[in-house]
Amino acid sequence: MERTARERLLTFLLVPAIVVGVLVLGWVTFRTTFQLDKLRQQSVIEATLTLANEKVDRLDKRIVDEDNVVLAETDLSQLPHVAHRWLLTAARETPTVRAILVLDPHGPDYDIVAFTSRAGGGPEDDAFRRLLVARMVRDMDLRDTPPDELRHLHKTYGGQSYLVSYASRTAHNGRSYLIIAWHDVARIVHDMMPRILADTGSSGARFNVVDEDGRIVFGPPLRGGELLVGKHFPTTLYGWRLQVALTSAEELSANVERRRLFEAVMVGLSCVVVIAGILVVVFAAERERRLSAMKSDFVANVSHELKTPVSLVRMFGELLLSNRVASDEKRREYLQIILNESDRLTALIDNVLDFSKLEQKKSAFELAEGDIGQVASRAVEVYRYRAEREGVELRVELEDPSPRAVIDERAIELAIINLVDNALKYAKDGKIVCIEVRSRGRFAEIRVRDFGPGIPLEDRRRIFDRFVRGRLSANAQVRGSGIGLALVRHIAEAHGGKAWVESEVGEGSTFVLAIPMTGVVANEPIREASAG
Ligand code: ADP
Repeated sequence: MERTARERLLTFLLVPAIVVGVLVLGWVTFRTTFQLDKLRQQSVIEATLTLANEKVDRLDKRIVDEDNVVLAETDLSQLPHVAHRWLLTAARETPTVRAILVLDPHGPDYDIVAFTSRAGGGPEDDAFRRLLVARMVRDMDLRDTPPDELRHLHKTYGGQSYLVSYASRTAHNGRSYLIIAWHDVARIVHDMMPRILADTGSSGARFNVVDEDGRIVFGPPLRGGELLVGKHFPTTLYGWRLQVALTSAEELSANVERRRLFEAVMVGLSCVVVIAGILVVVFAAERERRLSAMKSDFVANVSHELKTPVSLVRMFGELLLSNRVASDEKRREYLQIILNESDRLTALIDNVLDFSKLEQKKSAFELAEGDIGQVASRAVEVYRYRAEREGVELRVELEDPSPRAVIDERAIELAIINLVDNALKYAKDGKIVCIEVRSRGRFAEIRVRDFGPGIPLEDRRRIFDRFVRGRLSANAQVRGSGIGLALVRHIAEAHGGKAWVESEVGEGSTFVLAIPMTGVVANEPIREASAG
C-alpha cells in the first residue's frame, strides 16, 4: 500500500522537527543554568575580592602605623636620643621594625648619620648597612620627595626579601636627610600575617601570600579553581600578593561541576527518551499500516476463495436439474460433490468466523473427551472427492487404539481441514498426502505430510502468524487468506498443545498438531523439531 501524504509528512518533517526542538530545548536549559552559575560565581568572586582588599589594607596600615611611630620619634635635632627613646617602646609600638637609620642622601657615599638596631649591631646589621648604601638607595625613589612623605622599597637582594620604609625630612641646618625603617620581613610573615589573616570571621576563607615568583611565603596551597582571588599589597609589601579562596567557593565550584554533569546527563537522557518515543510511534504506525494492508488483502482473498465452491455447487446443481445426467451412479456422485463442496464452504466460513472470534478474543471451546482418530477421518472425508479429482492420494494412518483427548471436536476438525486443504493447495504435485494420528509421550500427534515444494526457512518462522502468506504461494497465484495456520496454532494452544512445521525445501512439509492426551501423567515436554 502506498504511504499517504500525511504519513510522509510525519516521517520526513515532524520527526526531525521534534528532534531539533528537543535539542534546542536541551541547549537552552543548559545555557540558562550555565549563565546562572556564572552570575553566582561572579558574586562569590566579588565577595572574595572585598575580603582580600580588607586584609591587604589592614596589613599595610599596621606597617604604616609603625612607620609613623618611627617618624614621630626620630627628631633630627636630637639624634643621639633617638636610639634611647625608640628602643624603650620598640617591642610594643614597632614590633616589626628591626632598625632605624638616618642617611644623608647628598654625599657621594650616602653617609649613614645615625643607626639604631634592636639587635644591638652585629654582622647582619653591618651587612644591611652595606647593602643599603651600595644598592638599596639607588632603588629608592628620591626625586623631589615632599618632606615626611612615606615611601616603601620592597625587593629581593641576594635571595632575601627586604622591606624598608623611608621619608625625607629637613633638619634645622637646612639639609634634608632620609629617615629609614628597616622592617624584619620574617617577623611580618610569622607574627603579623597570622594575626591579621587568621581572623576570617564567618566567611570561611583561606589565605596565602605568594612572592614575585609565585612561591608561597605564607599559608597553605589553595585550590579554588576559577574562584581564587589574588590581590597585591598596595604600598608596603607590594612585590607580594595575597590570595584568597572562600571555602564555600571551593564547594561551589565542585557543585557547579556536579550540576553541569547532571544536567548534561539529563538532557542526553531526555533526548534518548524522545527519540525512542518517536521510533516507537513510527514503528507502531508502520505496523498498523502493514496490518491494515494485510487485512484488505485478506478480504479480497476470502471473497475469492468463497467463489470456487459456490460455483461448483451451482454447476452440479444445474446439471442435476437439467435431467441430463445419465446414470444414478453419476447423479449420486454429483450430489456427493455438492455435499463435499458445501462442507468445504462451511469449513471456510467457519474459518473466517472463528478467526474473527479469535481476533476479538471471544472464542470459547466446548471441550469433551473424544477420539482423535475419528475426528481426523471425518476431516479427511471432506477432501476425498477433491483429492481424487486432483489426482492426489490421501493416505490415513491411525494408531490402534486411537489416542483420546479432551478436545473441541469441531475445532480440531477445522484445524485438520486447514492442514489438508493447504497440502492439496500447495503440494498436489507430490501426489500423496499422509494424515497420521499417533501418540508420542503424553501427546496425541496429528501429522499431515506432503511431498510438495517445502517451505523456506524465513517463511517457516512467519506462516503461523495471521495474514501471513508464504512468498512462493503468493507468486504461484494460489488462493488463500493467510489465516489458516494462525487458526491452527490458536486451536492447538487452546488445547494446551502446540502446532509446528517440519520442512525441507524440495522434499515436502509435515505439519504437526500436538494435543495432550487424557489419562497420561504429564512429565514429558512437547517435542518440537526445530522447524525442519
Ligand atoms: P493461506 O493458505 O490462506 O495462504 P495459511 O495460514 O493456511 O494461509 O498458510 C500460510 C502460508 O503457509 C501459505 O501461504 C503457504 O505459503 C504456506 N503453506 C502452508 N501449507 C503449506 C504446504 N503444505 N506446503 C507449502 N507451503 C505451505
